[in-house]
Amino acid sequence: MPNISFIGLGAMGTPMALNLIKKKYNLYLFDINKNNYKKFQKTKSKISHNHIDLTKNSEIFISMLPDGKALASLIFGKNGIINHIKKNSIFIDCSSTDYKTTIEVSKAFFKKGIKFLDAPVSGGVFGAKKASLTIMVGGNKKTFDSVSKILNVLGKNIIYVGKSGSGQIVKACNNMMLGINMIGISEAFTLANKYGIESKIFYEICSKSTGSSWAMLNHLPVKGIVKTSAANNNYKPGYAAKLILKDLKIAKNMAEKVSLRAIMGKKAFDLYNKFCKNNKYNLDYSAIIKSLYSKD
Ligand code: NAD
Repeated sequence: MPNISFIGLGAMGTPMALNLIKKKYNLYLFDINKNNYKKFQKTKSKISHNHIDLTKNSEIFISMLPDGKALASLIFGKNGIINHIKKNSIFIDCSSTDYKTTIEVSKAFFKKGIKFLDAPVSGGVFGAKKASLTIMVGGNKKTFDSVSKILNVLGKNIIYVGKSGSGQIVKACNNMMLGINMIGISEAFTLANKYGIESKIFYEICSKSTGSSWAMLNHLPVKGIVKTSAANNNYKPGYAAKLILKDLKIAKNMAEKVSLRAIMGKKAFDLYNKFCKNNKYNLDYSAIIKSLYSKD
């Protein structure tokens, strides 16, 4: 069993790391927020005092960071990890990062003889806990094959997409659909409710009708109907609004670069942007339903 360094123990990283520990991998952990080590106290994993320490103990790295900026700072920032990782190591970035940073990182690692895969995930915190994530991977195919056993511990659908960055392209396009979808669900449930239809009945019908979707079945923005809804927990994330805003921005930039109008994607970005500016960025993305009545 190879040692694995796991960086970023937030909402997704913690359950993913715990699943690797359950399968008897030796984990070396690092997060800039020390509170995130609590859930590992009873495990055999080892906590690293800084990101450089990680490089002494393993040749496989998994990161689950908020965005490309955090990834670039870890790799190229002060005491950048790139100058310490051993040659031939494999770095798997499971965060949802922008394509440009992914390519920069991949090229810089290549020059140092370090292998890099972009491997963003889908399935939310529930999928991370249940190890049922979908993982979309870009990078060298042989490198992908060499770590597929590890990725299979984290998810159920592990799909090789193609060259470096292609996993992130798929992820941004997927999340653009998700954001648009969540706004649509919020509007439909609010509208039906305004006309006197109980949300539970509406859900029961729509879940067996053409309006159904993954977001509706798993992240319904109305409380008390779907077990995994953040709405049941005062919209505590889950998947924070600031994260979908970041993903919608990535998709918007991608669309602009190829002169695609992507009207709905742009509208979803604008709505989440306004929502986050109203100090709601740390709520779950499904809390967008709360903004439908506000005029500002
Ligand atoms: P999170 O904010 O809960 O966790 C990110 C963690 O990274 C935090 O604990 C933070 O302290 C740590 N961190 C930040 N910079 C760091 C650094 N330089 N070194 C070490 N640690 C650092 O976010 P999350 O919800 O776990 O999401 C992580 C990634 O997965 C994001 O890119 C997100 O878009 C993506 N994602 C999230 C979900 C979801 O449902 N939450 C689903 C799929 C994909």
